[in-house]
Order: sequence, then structure tokens, then C-alpha cells
Amino acid sequence: MDFFAKNLINWYKTNKRELPWRHTSDPYKIWLSEIILQQTQVVQGLSYYYKFVKNYPTVKHLAKAPIDEVMKNWQGLGYYSRARNLHEAAKYIVMHYKGVFPKTYLEIRQLKGVGDYTAAAIASSAYNLQHAVVDGNVYRVLSRVFGIETPIDSGEGKKQFQNLANELLPKKESSLYNQAIMEFGALYCRPSNPNCSECIFKYKCAAFAEEKVSFFPVKAKKTKVKIRYFNYFIFTNKQTVYISKRQEKDIWQGLYEFYLIETPKKIKNELILKTKEVRKIASLKESVIKSISKEYKHILSHRQLFTRFYHLEIKHSIKLKSTINVKIKDLNKYAFPRLIERYLIDSGFIK
Ligand code: SF4
Repeated sequence: MDFFAKNLINWYKTNKRELPWRHTSDPYKIWLSEIILQQTQVVQGLSYYYKFVKNYPTVKHLAKAPIDEVMKNWQGLGYYSRARNLHEAAKYIVMHYKGVFPKTYLEIRQLKGVGDYTAAAIASSAYNLQHAVVDGNVYRVLSRVFGIETPIDSGEGKKQFQNLANELLPKKESSLYNQAIMEFGALYCRPSNPNCSECIFKYKCAAFAEEKVSFFPVKAKKTKVKIRYFNYFIFTNKQTVYISKRQEKDIWQGLYEFYLIETPKKIKNELILKTKEVRKIASLKESVIKSISKEYKHILSHRQLFTRFYHLEIKHSIKLKSTINVKIKDLNKYAFPRLIERYLIDSGFIK
């Protein structure tokens, strides 16, 4: 097993990308980078890392910031529960640890939004503690090199991979090793088109030897994708517009949106505009349909959203639950899901 860690660390020393969080042992900054990089590519996450470090240089600054501002800074990165949890955890650190980032794995693991993987990554990178990271990259690399066919989404698989990862972790070099395996999975042993021909494990890798690279890692269940149909109504009235904060406990919780009617299937424009709900709010005779957008398709890991936007200028003010009336020119101050932001830019509501 020794061959694995040694080769990996040597490879990492000459092949790693220069990234800002690799030059710090500040646990706060490492935590920020780890949360930003969950479900996000390094290229996309980098500018957000710089933005957060600049706007919130310490955990106390982050804790003090209004949540709407944090969400706005997160806009475009997706998986918004990460921003909500980051803010909650920052407040928790200020309240329980006087703003000093916790120093043990268990304390770090208790922070909101921090799972086993993130806790191990922070504990090893910031404090060089002996905790092996296991995430998608690690499952892929280990399953391929060691030819492990146990499904990674089974209880047995999780245990087996965690045990192997712990065994492989070299004493005193946990930080380097953890970063190395993640970098190797991202740059060489990629999900598709891995660079096997130039790989340091070419002659040791079970998957490569058996020509079964794409077979690994094995999953028991396939992700079910749910299709949803959203119809958003942008009610404007004299340079103002109605928006509401999404309360549902889902990935868009805390973001702003417009009046939403969800339908079980695609519905014709004439029909959705004639629904009781819309007629009641907009008193259609007195309203002007300013535009009906093209259909926007938004793909998430478990969802496909088909969405149309209906812009109606209404002659009267309206009262809707949890809805606020804001100036159109101020729309860019609110955090919207990427899907809605795309529409707002396309339609000229925000520049
Ligand atoms: S040989 Fe290919 S599959 Fe095996 S570890 Fe290297 S890149 Fe991954």
C-alpha cells in the first residue's frame, strides 16, 4: 500500500495547481474554500473564494453580515443551502468559540453544512490531523486502482472505502496526502477521459489492467431525475415589481423569485393566463401582457426545470402573501436563482 501514498504525494508536488487556499493554514479560509468547492469546479469557485475572503476576511465579519447580502454574494454558484449554512455556522463559531475556529475534528464536524469529508479536509489541511477524506474523487480513484466493485452508495461500500482511505493515510503527511488524492482525481483520474496513458499508476491500476476503467466506481442506484414545470409571473406596476423570498426548505430557500404557478405538465400560454389564480391577481382586462418568454431549461442533479416567464403590467397594486414590492431598478440587489437571473438579463430587467 505504501507505493500508493508515496507516489501520489510525489506526483502532487510537481503537478498541483497553484490555488490560494493551498498557501494558508487559516482554518476559516480553508473552510470557505471547501464549502465553495462542494459541487463546484475550481475554475468556477475561485472568484467566489476571492470575493468572500475580501468581503468577509474573518469569521466574525461573515457572522455579522446580513443573510441577504451573503446570498447575493453567493448568487450564481448554486446549491444555496451552502451559503445559508456557512452563515449559520459563522454565527455559531462567534457565539460558542468567541470567533476562534474550532480545532478538533468533532467540533468542526458539528458545524452546519460540514459533513465527514469537509471536516476531514479542514482538520487535515489546517491542523494536519489524521483524518482521511473520502468523496467522489476518492471513491473513483480507489475503486479503479484497487479494483473494488462494492457499490459506493451502499453502507458496506462506504465503510470499506473509509477503512481503505484510513489505512492509506500516511502519518504526519495527512494534509499533503488528502490534497494529493483530490487533485489526482480532478486532473488525472477524471470521471470521463481519465489520462491513463500518462498515469503514475498505469502498471498498478486494476481497472486499467482489466480495461474496465469506465465500469468504476460501481453504484447500486441510478439517480432519479424529476421533471418540473414552472410558470413565473412578473407583475410590474409603475416601475415596481413584486417579488417574494422562497420559504420552502429546498435548494432555493432564502432566494427571491416571482409569483410561481407550478403545473404537472407543460401548459399552453392561453390556458395558464386564464387560470382563476392569474385572473384574480391581474384582473386581466386591466392588465397588459408585456411579454412571454421562451422556455428555459434548467438542469440540476435531481431535477429538470422547464420554465416560462410571463411579464404582466398591472394597473393596481396587489397584496400577496410574503410578497414585497420593489423598484425594478433595484432588482440587482436581490439574490435570485441562476435560472431567474438568466431571464432577468435576457429580458433587460437587469444589466
Ligand atoms: S490508470 Fe487510469 S483509471 Fe487507473 S488510476 Fe490512472 S488514470 Fe485512473
